[in-house]
Amino acid sequence: MSGRPGPHTAGDDGVLLHELIAGHARSRPDAPAVTCGGRTLTYRRLDAEAERLAAGLRARVHGENAVIAVLMDRSTELVVTLLGILKAGCAYLALSTTDPDPRLAELAADAGARLAVTTPDLAGRLPGTLEILTSGTAPGGTGPAEDDPPATGTGDARPAAHGARTADDLAYVCYTSGSTGAPKGVGVTHRGVHRLAVLQDWLRLTPQDVVLQVSSVSFDASTLEIFGALCAGCRLVVHPGGGPIDLDALAATVTGHEVTVVNLATGLLHRLIESRLSVFAGLRHVVTGGDVASPALVTRLLRAWPALTFTNGYGPTENTTFTTRWTTTGTPPPGPVPLGRAVSGTAVAVLDDTMDPVAAGGTGEIYTWGEGLARGYLGRPAATAERFLPCPFGPPGSRMYRTGDLARLPADGELEFAGRTDRQVKVRGYRVEPGAVEAALVRQPGVDRAVVVVERDDAGHTRLVAHVVPGDTSDAGLGPRLRAGLAAELPAYAVPDAVLVHTTLPVTAHGKVDRDALTGRGPRPRTVSNAYIAPLTPLQRRLTELWSALLDTAPVGIEDDFFDLGGHSLLAAELLDVMHQELGVEIPATALYLRSTVAELGEAVGEALAGREKRP
Ligand code: ADP
Repeated sequence: MSGRPGPHTAGDDGVLLHELIAGHARSRPDAPAVTCGGRTLTYRRLDAEAERLAAGLRARVHGENAVIAVLMDRSTELVVTLLGILKAGCAYLALSTTDPDPRLAELAADAGARLAVTTPDLAGRLPGTLEILTSGTAPGGTGPAEDDPPATGTGDARPAAHGARTADDLAYVCYTSGSTGAPKGVGVTHRGVHRLAVLQDWLRLTPQDVVLQVSSVSFDASTLEIFGALCAGCRLVVHPGGGPIDLDALAATVTGHEVTVVNLATGLLHRLIESRLSVFAGLRHVVTGGDVASPALVTRLLRAWPALTFTNGYGPTENTTFTTRWTTTGTPPPGPVPLGRAVSGTAVAVLDDTMDPVAAGGTGEIYTWGEGLARGYLGRPAATAERFLPCPFGPPGSRMYRTGDLARLPADGELEFAGRTDRQVKVRGYRVEPGAVEAALVRQPGVDRAVVVVERDDAGHTRLVAHVVPGDTSDAGLGPRLRAGLAAELPAYAVPDAVLVHTTLPVTAHGKVDRDALTGRGPRPRTVSNAYIAPLTPLQRRLTELWSALLDTAPVGIEDDFFDLGGHSLLAAELLDVMHQELGVEIPATALYLRSTVAELGEAVGEALAGREKRP
């Protein structure tokens, strides 16, 4: 057990996020608060614009902790909107502009939102049942310079529309991606965000810091970026857009605005280390989280930039983004990148099946409690009661969250991830935890990352398949050697039937390993009706080879659709990146969405090349 939090002493003063930010608008009104593209809002202007939105919302919304849906790409206006919603005494539900329209409607309805704030270009994607408020500013916010209004600095000086505000009011609702079960709306409080963004003693943000905002606001990693920066009086630099992230554009945002702190989903961090190590040159602190970090890549980062501080954050949304963290400057991870220890205002315990703490060296499930705990799952008391349990370690009446994550507790107390409990499967009648097999694989020499998935054949037989990324990609013979190595360590039924070696693993839009893509159960499985048409030109042939490698499928015909074959936003970004490097053409992501077969994309490349030749 570690990091037992103190009693809940934090009063509500100084905990409400919009009040902390209004404090900066009063004390440093002209300091830059949010930059996106060519537009910068000072703290005074951010506060004033958010206040204006809040006034409009107060007139429309009735009831406490009302949830307001937001559908916008990353922009200064989006930050204004989130702050305005908090000022109005409401909570935001940030929807992803990359989600299909029916899912937007489903999440807004599930969260009980009646009103949505969006931009004119996106308003048509929301259901008619929602009252829509459109924001005037174009996404990306490159509008003309405006005169700064006088600082209101009022924060919440107007009476709150719905009675006194408390730190346990909802700040936002975040839907879990579903990698840990059906999507559920997690209700996160001001107190939880305050403990993540303000109480933290490891990131130590100061007004001199420039913090990147690149995470989708529908993802809880954005909480640390936005509220960490604005509550500390830093400048928040928003990387504009909403779709797949183009690595060159991201590098330009980081270096062009002299960013000092980034928080990158694990998948994005891996891609940047692999292909753009120089991006990290000017950074003070690199934070990652969301999935298992590669020890080899983290080591490569730390060796390249020894003055850099690196943090691996771990935690479920239900405990406000981070529960534990491992922080290092210069020193590479000892083996697997540790999850580390509980963050401030939080406690964790590693418990066995009988809810007793495991001894040093043992493995058990992570339970957590303290200031970060969410209120629970919106409108789902039964699901909430299942995961948020009475806490025998805290004050009477307190709750703890059962994470479903397994961790090993080494003698030094720095937790190590050991998979999830709820991926447990039966193979030939035996219970197998794929995470335990993954952990055993990563212990084998030459393995950097490993994912074990379960496949069922038509007869219903279950088999384990390991997908492995080696430390050294030229290592032939790794697959068979691994099966032999595992056989020496695991019971026969837990040794994967197949070991497939890849150069990289597919990731979801949230930067986590896409297990569905590995099992072929992706959201858009391959359509079997398309006839195979072989490539006709050298360019088409090269494109089919690239797709085949990236999507791990063969053969690819020219009428095949990138997204039908399991492509998703991050793979799209990877494809465009490779095409840029190999073919010398920059195809925008939107073009791939519109022209998503090999034949169509080939035409787009041809047009881009022809256009380039015409230029002087
Ligand atoms: P979901 O994926 O269900 O939307 P979250 O985004 O809250 O939920 O992800 C939380 C889960 O992601 C954790 O419970 C854990 O399984 C995994 N996770 C988060 N951070 C890390 C990390 N640093 N290392 C390994 N796994 C992590």
